[in-house]
Amino acid sequence: MPEEVKTICPNCGGRMVGAEAEYYRCPSCGYERKSATLDLGSLALGAIVGGGAAALWFLLTRE
Ligand SMILES: [Zn+2]
Repeated sequence: MPEEVKTICPNCGGRMVGAEAEYYRCPSCGYERKSATLDLGSLALGAIVGGGAAALWFLLTRE
């Protein structure tokens, strides 16, 4: 079913409209971004990589 997804624009704080399921656009400033799930995936991946690097650093630096 068609669902109008709305989220907050990080650029101007305006209300972004999901024209498509995986695409958001801010009508106020024209800011565009792909789906939040992709962003969350990137964040999760970054957290995993960052956590791994931190753990490696911890193991390398402790005596
Ligand atoms: Zn905006």
